[in-house]
Amino acid sequence: MDRCATFRGRFFVFGATTMTNPAQPNWKPATSLVHGGTLRSQYGETSEAMYLTQGYVYETAEAAEARFKGEEPGFIYSRYANPTVDMFEKRMCMLEGAEDARATSSGMAAVSAALLCGLRAGDHVVAARALFGSCRWVIETLMPRYGIEATLVDGTRIENWQKAVRPNTKLFFLESPTNPTLEVIDIAGVAAIANGIGARVVVDNVFATPLQQKPLELGAHVVVYSATKHIDGQGRCLGGVILSDKEWIDKNLHDYFRHTGPSLSPFNAWTLLKGLETLPVRVAAQTASAARIADFLAGRQEIARVIYPGRADHPQADIVARQMRGGSTLICFELKGGKKAAFDFENRLRVVLISNNLGDAKSLVTHPATTTHKNLTDEARAELGISGGTVRLSVGLEDAGDLLDDIEQALKAA
Ligand SMILES: *Cc1c(COP(=O)(O)O)cnc(C)c1O
Repeated sequence: MDRCATFRGRFFVFGATTMTNPAQPNWKPATSLVHGGTLRSQYGETSEAMYLTQGYVYETAEAAEARFKGEEPGFIYSRYANPTVDMFEKRMCMLEGAEDARATSSGMAAVSAALLCGLRAGDHVVAARALFGSCRWVIETLMPRYGIEATLVDGTRIENWQKAVRPNTKLFFLESPTNPTLEVIDIAGVAAIANGIGARVVVDNVFATPLQQKPLELGAHVVVYSATKHIDGQGRCLGGVILSDKEWIDKNLHDYFRHTGPSLSPFNAWTLLKGLETLPVRVAAQTASAARIADFLAGRQEIARVIYPGRADHPQADIVARQMRGGSTLICFELKGGKKAAFDFENRLRVVLISNNLGDAKSLVTHPATTTHKNLTDEARAELGISGGTVRLSVGLEDAGDLLDDIEQALKAA
């Protein structure tokens, strides 16, 4: 049955469950993120209900038959859809301006499903080489096993995308800003090249967050998130989401999703719904602190360079101004003293914690060369601008003054 057609309407009728907040077309993001997609049970609960159920029961055999035929709305099995997960998907659609979505158990489940569901042996993919490590593994190692070829390019140079195109190119994949060096790729430019050859553009929008950059408005066809990052934002659970137009989801993702089972748990969907309520407040506060810290770092003699989308000296400042609505909660910088200085700096931090995660309420520092990007060759790391002195800082919700004091004392020691 086509679950989208049958129960993706604004008012959802599920037994006695009929109350909802009808979405208003003029809602600003902060309002959608508090009320969007809410599906109230007969008890009229304030907070979203957590439907921890695998399956659903039917009043009669005829009702089961009708639901399987798609003649009656309703849920069938939580691998396909679940009311709490449905609320999360609807709220994400409103935020992103997407027609439809599927929530997944992790960001990597979202990326791999978005890439694999529409590709066949013999297809070719062009991807930016600056990718989250596991995304790069899927493209460089996994897809070739199934006969899908890929070319990795320096995505910041728009002509490289055109040059890499082959007659069988079906998909472009990129992350922007990139991890960890916060390069920014011209999404509209890449989409124009893709549209010229009938290929799809999939954007991993994790670093930008759904608030700071709108890939679908820039011409991308599919957006993916690791909801583990800013959407949860409080270090609690993994999750992901794929957003696109309804036709692409129906034709490519719908069956793949149902039959391979990357589904999000309703418990995690509930946690992520609560995360969405505070997303704009958190991202605004974290971005404001990050901008202050980036400026502070840029003035320090221990530091060779600071890369921060929003600063005038960002290598793609013109594209940042065109396609992003705000800066970033992340900062990348390079210590002059190499790995030793970076390790000394990390070890002396007292408020900022050492972790490979990002987007959290807690400020987190990462040394990419020895952790998230340790599996790359020295050459590949050099291409991405990752050296021993490179540090990635994910700015949290602590008081900005406390963070600046902490960073200053750790730098002095380095
Ligand atoms: C974390 C991350 C992923 C993977 O997400 P998980 O939820 O950890 O599976 C993919 N892309 C980017 C850019 C990420 O930061």
